[in-house]
Formats: sequence, structure tokens, C-alpha cells
Amino acid sequence: MEKAVVWFSEGTKEQKALLGGKGANLAEMTNLGLPVPQGFIVPATICLTYLEEQVLPEAIIKQVKAAIEELAVRRNKTFGGLQSPLLVSVRSGAKFSMPGMMDTILNLGLNDETVQGLAQQTGDPVFAYDCYRRLIQMYGDVVKGVAKEHFEAYLTDYKKQQNYASDQMMTGNDWQMICRVFQSIYMEHTQEAFPQDPFQQLLAAITAVFRSWNNPRAKTYRSLHRIPDDLGTAVTIQEMVFGNSGINSGTGVAFTRNPATGEPGLFGEFLVCAQGEDVVAGIRTPQPIQALAQQHPMIYQELKQLAEGLEDHYQDMQDIEFTIDDGQLFVLQTRNGKRTAAAAAQIATDMVAEGRITIRQALDRITPEMIDQLLHPLFAPEALQQAKAFAQGLPASPGAASGHVYFTAEAAEKASRTGEKVLLLRQETSPEDIEGMVVSEAIITARGGMTSHAAVVARGLGVCCVVGCEALSVDVFLKQARCGELLIEEGDVLSVDGSTGKLYQGQLPMTSVQERVLLDQLLTWAQAQADLKVYANAETKNDIEAALAFGAAGIGLARTEHMFFGEARLWKMREVILAETKAERLAALAEIKAYQKADFKEMLQAAQGKKCTIRLLDPPLHEFLPHEHERLEMARRSQKSLAVIERRIDELQEVNPMMGHRGSRLGLSYPEIYEMQTAAICEAAVELRQQGVEVEAAILLPLISLPAELQVLKETLTQVIAQAEATLQQPLRIEIGMMIETPRACLIAGECAEDAAFFSFGTNDLTQMTFGFSRDDAGSFIQAYLQSGILQEDPYQHLDQAGVGTLMRQAIAGVRDRQPEHSIGVCGEVGSDPYSIAFLREIGIDYVSCSPYRIPAAWLAIAQSAPIIEEASVSTR
Ligand code: PEP
Ligand code: MG
Repeated sequence: MEKAVVWFSEGTKEQKALLGGKGANLAEMTNLGLPVPQGFIVPATICLTYLEEQVLPEAIIKQVKAAIEELAVRRNKTFGGLQSPLLVSVRSGAKFSMPGMMDTILNLGLNDETVQGLAQQTGDPVFAYDCYRRLIQMYGDVVKGVAKEHFEAYLTDYKKQQNYASDQMMTGNDWQMICRVFQSIYMEHTQEAFPQDPFQQLLAAITAVFRSWNNPRAKTYRSLHRIPDDLGTAVTIQEMVFGNSGINSGTGVAFTRNPATGEPGLFGEFLVCAQGEDVVAGIRTPQPIQALAQQHPMIYQELKQLAEGLEDHYQDMQDIEFTIDDGQLFVLQTRNGKRTAAAAAQIATDMVAEGRITIRQALDRITPEMIDQLLHPLFAPEALQQAKAFAQGLPASPGAASGHVYFTAEAAEKASRTGEKVLLLRQETSPEDIEGMVVSEAIITARGGMTSHAAVVARGLGVCCVVGCEALSVDVFLKQARCGELLIEEGDVLSVDGSTGKLYQGQLPMTSVQERVLLDQLLTWAQAQADLKVYANAETKNDIEAALAFGAAGIGLARTEHMFFGEARLWKMREVILAETKAERLAALAEIKAYQKADFKEMLQAAQGKKCTIRLLDPPLHEFLPHEHERLEMARRSQKSLAVIERRIDELQEVNPMMGHRGSRLGLSYPEIYEMQTAAICEAAVELRQQGVEVEAAILLPLISLPAELQVLKETLTQVIAQAEATLQQPLRIEIGMMIETPRACLIAGECAEDAAFFSFGTNDLTQMTFGFSRDDAGSFIQAYLQSGILQEDPYQHLDQAGVGTLMRQAIAGVRDRQPEHSIGVCGEVGSDPYSIAFLREIGIDYVSCSPYRIPAAWLAIAQSAPIIEEASVSTR
């Protein structure tokens, strides 16, 4: 029989897939003897059964019934009885933490009778009826889809009428009345009465949690975080303890280190007389945890010790939910805390220094996205000095961003689709806002603390975020917000500093000050563990210098066409292309050669003796041709008639230029272009060598599909190189390599292995040609394919392993068969995609080459996918 109930005392922290992260950690803490309220877990396997069969099988229902009765007996309570009623929380918990995505119901077990029992038992009707109204509201929302705003709007109005400043002023009678009204709101929206049978409540709650696995926000979160859809969620059923049972009670969230900065020490917030949802939902702004040290020093000490013990046990920063019930501390959850990139880097490096974790474990705790965040630009300090902030909130997630402000997730999402940079400004966020949060450059909320929904989600997304900006009041209907005198309307441009919590009007200039010390430390570690090399796609001095600073092993791809786009050069290049005779072409090329040589010298010098792989001209010629309005000027410069210019342009028109006269085909039709480029490389190398500068140049031939293309070009270029070597009177050792960019090139790569000294996969073109999806036009239909599930991933972002990957395997096998030592790399975009790198290693790639700012994430991904080397400094704790 399928086991439908696992008691906390039966589980371990390793069982996350079955019990969910929450359940597994509750089990672990129970077994560690920590103060955890008792309970049991309905495992994720039951969720899958339910989602498949759409009903809970009888046998499962029986086990759950027996378990809840057993829990009541163990606790000397009754489930559904008047005497000491047992109340439970029902919470979702999947293998991977999905904050805010799934649903929670508290105080389950209350009904019109048991609420009286609770009031009598505690002598506190305020508390009892407050619990009951929360149950009606949460149950209505989670199980029946009655928006919680319906309940909240009523409560807010009621308090206003009574002139109550806060919930604390509500009496037992007030709450009792609210319970009645909430029941009628429930009835109005569901056409049925609020269920009075606690077991019926329990089953409905469990199945609602199961169904929430497939709600749109959970799906969005999973696809964003690459969490599989077929895991299901477990449900944790736990005896309630009450943070809302008076002023000696409270609830809060504590992190063992600061999740924004990584600074060691207890960090967090708590609310007096509140239930957990109040903290997370950001409805009330909580107090910092240090205030607990003054108000309840003993409990603070106990919490601090418990937190340190948990961090020691898990050897990672913990995010702990706790409740104080009438002076007694309980832990309701612990998990590895979400953190900003800066905090992740700080904590990982600190924990290595503290001897808790290995370097490899430290690297495994950094995601490629975090590396991107560490490289994020901030506002320029000079601009910040002059700018005056109009409001200040809590700095919930660092970074800086400017954009147009929107007051609903929907509006933000719509505007972002037009390419606008958007900011989401909300009173507070809730999980429904996820789609709008994902597309926003920054998130601002008027209410809520550092652990509010907005703060947690933003940190996870790496989106800059400011919360609890109390000076703001947002009016969603009027599409405006007020901050004192200032009126902010939809579409206005604001700048948000997530590191200081300050908001500015207009757009502030950015800089790219980086958390470089930590990043450099992580990069050094990653490079030491990496078994593949990372080169750079770069051709300017600045880019090459940035790439080397990130530890690039050299330049894997310098695209020479980028060098022709300067004003003077472009006109010369056009003369080359429009020339009618070889003599004319040579004359124009001679002038271009001077530019090229200077470029190559600068490049080779910047590369500091590291390998510099220069690709000869690749793009279709039409990319250089003069536009309509430039033709007269072209005629003047080339001393030809307009008619001649127009005729040449017509001759050069192509129907499908991407598959037309480009790449090595150009080099074969106009050998003088490639000869000029090669001569310029050689002369640059010779001159630098003569000045004592180390250089290592290599030439890459684009878009080869036939061994004969390679052979002919190689022969031509070898002669040019030989001439330069004769001048220098020593070998230049310039290797000639080949790009693999067409399916045919993959199939015949082996036949090229004798002529090409090395290979580099141009996966951009190879993906285009393998799918037959134009690089320039695929955006529209790939989006539709992704939405309808025809494609799981965009093959231009993540390597298509089944198709393109299979061709690559074949090419590598062909080359290795003849020349096992030849180096084979990838210089297309997916080469640096962290999610493709493990596959590239598996098929035998030696190096990847990518743009400078993608180098750090590539090193990290390589280190993370490398086989683990045992380290001597493993924790001894
Ligand atoms: C490629 O095709 O992958 C490549 C690197 O070349 P380009 O993007 O310049 O065509
Ligand atoms: Mg290409």
C-alpha cells in the first residue's frame, strides 16, 4: 500500500524529493531534539497520484484520518472537539524551495464550535476569533479561489469605521462579527457554507496544495529556475503554535547571516502578536530581530544558539521561521537562505576561511546568475552625490536600475513587451505579481520588510528591490502614487538604488563598480578547478583587457569585420567591394591594410603574448554597401558614375545573403582580401616581435564546408606567411584553423584534420543551418514554439544537444580519429551558456570562447561541472 503519511520523527534531511524541503528539514530538526511542533507529511508521491487520478484514493484518505487522530491523541487534544481543539497548519513543500509560489493554510480545525473551545481554553476570545477569521480567509483563498482582497477590504473598512489604528485594537466581539461576515463573503463567492467538518477542511486543503503545484505562478517559477514539472509537492501537517496569542507571543524570520551582504550574525525581523503570514506578506512592517534581545533577552539567546546550531549542522546560511507562543520558542522551518549575489560570494568565501566547506562546495553555491549580478552596474558615484532622493525604503536587493514606473504586474508586463524598461511599484507584492516582477528592472513596495514577498523574490531573481518605502502611497485605480507633494504617474521615469534603498526621479547614469575582490577570489578558485579553458570573443583593446582581467586564456575569436565599420574605413571597404577590376580593388585594399595592421598590432599587444585567434572576413558583402542616400557620395569618393555604382550594387544583391557570398567563399572569390588581412597580421606580428613584444597569432577561416575550400585558402595564406617569415628570418608560427559552422563541415571535419591546425565550432551559424531557422528572423516563431511547448528551450541560448550536439559529436570523432591532439573549441553564444557546458565537456570540447562579461560565469560553470577533486581542507566539524 502506498505510504501516505510520514511522521516527522521518521524522516531525514536527505529526503527532500519525497518530503519536500520543508518536511525533510522539520524531520531533521525533530530528530535533533529542537522545539518543533509535532506533525506528519503527506509525501510528494501522493501529489503525483492525486494529479493523475484527480481524486484522493480511499486508502490514502484512511491513512490521513488515522494520522490526524493519532496526532490529537499524542497531544492530548481533540480534532474537531470542543475540549482543547487541535489546530494544524497545512503547508506545501517541494524538493526545491519555491517561495510564495505554493499555498499555506493556518488554524485548520476551527469551526463555529471549536472556536468557542479555543476561546474558553485560552481565556482569550480576541485570539480565538482572530484565528478563525484567518482560517476562513486563507481557506477561501487557497481552496476556493476567493481573492483575499474581498476579506481584507471589509476588515480595513471596519477598522476605519471604528477608528482603530491597528488590529491590536479589535475586541473579541469585533473579531466574532468579522468571522460571521467573512463566512458570508465566503458563501457569496462559493455558493456554499464554510465547511464545519475539520476533516473535510483537511482533505480539501491537502488537495488544494496538490493542485497549486500546477498553478500558473508555480509553473512560471519552475520554468525560470529550471525545476522539473514532474516532482510534485509534499504537504506538511503540523500542530499550530500561536504567535498571535498576546504580547508575549510573536513570529519572525531569522537568517544566520545577512542575506543581502553576507555579514555574519543573526539578522531578521519579527512581529509581536502575529502569525507567520503577516511577516511574509509584508502587511505590517516588522521590527529588527535585535529588538527581541531587548524585549525578551532569554528567548533571543535561545534563538541565537539554535540558529548557530542549525548553521553548524547544515553548514550553510539558514533562513529560520520561528514563533514564540506565550513565551515559548518554536522553530517552524529552516532552509538554506536565499541570498543576493554579494551575500552568496561573501558567505561562500567566509565559510571556506572558517574551514566549514571546501572550495568546490563554495563554488557550487554560486550560480551563473549571481556572477552576472556581481558584475552588475551601479549608479555613478558622482551622479549619486548630486542627485537628491525623494524617498527611502529598505535596501532589499542590490543593484541599480532606471525605468518607467507601472503600478500593476500586468501593466509592467505589457509595457515590457514593447521593449520598455519597466519598474514595478506596488503597495506590496503577492505571488500573483510574479510575471510582472520577472520583467521589471526594479521592484519597489510601499510596505513590507526585508523578508517580505517582494524582497525574497527579488533577491532570488537578482532584481534590484526597495521595500517598505512608507512615504509612498499607491493608488492602483488612478495609476498614480504620492510621496508628499510629489505625484508619480504611470510611465514616469524613476531610478532605484537597491543597495541603499533610495529612490530618485529621472534616470541616473550608471557605472560598473564591481564586487571585484570576492569575484576575483571565486574566479581564481574556479580557474584552478577548471579542466577546460575559456577564451574571449574580443577585438578591441578595452574588451581584450577586460577579458584578460577575467582570466581569459587568450582571444578565441576576433571578428575582423567589426574593424571596418569606422567612418573612413567603411568608405574604403565600399571601394573594395564596388571595384570593377582587381587593380582597383588592390589599390583600395592597400589603404585598408594600413588600418588593419594598426588594429592587429594593438590587439596583439593587448593580448600580452596570449594566443590571439583572428578570423578573416566573414559577413555577406551587402552589409557594407552604401545606403540609398549615400550613393552619390560613394560615386564622388570612388570617382565613378552613379550609374556604375548602382549597377555594382545590383550585381551584388543576394536573395539570401546569410547563405550567400560570405565566409571563406569571399576569400576564394577575392583572394586579395584574405591575402591583405593575412599580410597585415604577419606584418603586425613581425614589427611587434622586432620590438621584443611576445605575440602568438592564429588565423581562423569562417564557414568552410568543403575540404577543398580549406586546402586552397591554406595554400594561399601559407605563401603570404612564408614571405613575412623570410623578412623576419624566423618562423612566425601562425596556425591556420577552421570554423565548423555548417552541418556538412561537421560531417567532413575528419577530412580537414590534416589541413586545419585547430577547429572552432561557430554554433550560431551551425544552429541556424541545422534547424534551418534564420538567425535574424527566428525570434518570432521561436517565442511561439516555446510557449506552445514545441521547443523546450531556445537553441540560440542553450545548445540543442539532440540535433546540433549530435553533429558536433560526429565532427569531434572525425577529427580525433586523425589528429587526437588538435584543439577543438566553441565560439558561438552557447559556448558560454552555463547550462550547455557540461555537455560540451562530455563531447570532448577543449575550450570555449565568449564575450568578456560572460567569461566569469563560464569559468564557474566549467569548475562546477568538472569532476570533484578531493581537498585536504574539508571541514573537520
Ligand atoms: C558563429 O557562427 O557561431 C560565430 C561565432 O560566428 P558569427 O556569430 O560571427 O557568425
Ligand atoms: Mg558564424
